[in-house]
Amino acid sequence: MSPIRIGHGYDIHRTIAGRPLVLGGVKFDSPFGLDGHSDADALTHAICDALLGAAGLPDIGHFFPNTDATWKNADSQLLLQKVIAALRERGWSPVNVDATLVAEQPKISPRLAEMKSALARSTGLPVDAIGLKATTNEGSDDIGRGLAIAAHAVALIQKL
Ligand code: MG
Repeated sequence: MSPIRIGHGYDIHRTIAGRPLVLGGVKFDSPFGLDGHSDADALTHAICDALLGAAGLPDIGHFFPNTDATWKNADSQLLLQKVIAALRERGWSPVNVDATLVAEQPKISPRLAEMKSALARSTGLPVDAIGLKATTNEGSDDIGRGLAIAAHAVALIQKL
């Protein structure tokens, strides 16, 4: 069996007025947040799914169902920490994560370093093992009109 595995994750949440906007564990000053059961941190959810997928495990919805009140408004960094623990229980440890956030608003780049630090803390990875980019959708489709924010992620894990 190969001692390394790769995984992919994708998530999208609709924007909604009057909720805090949390992306990559960082709270943004924003008139809108993301709709969802937890804090709806789409970036962190995509990273969780990439890690789980690499280990051949079911997705984040399986581990933290939106029917479970435990995860109502939950901090997704806690979910990410639990994903890492689930991997470690099975003998896997993360090697690196790379993610792309797709959002028309707010401006992400000034907060990228903070987001990388938060994700490094939650995964136990060094900051330079967290790749993070942000792009807009060039005004096209619902993301481009500011109606949703999406994220893509890949993760590499290794057998301890
Ligand atoms: Mg999600």
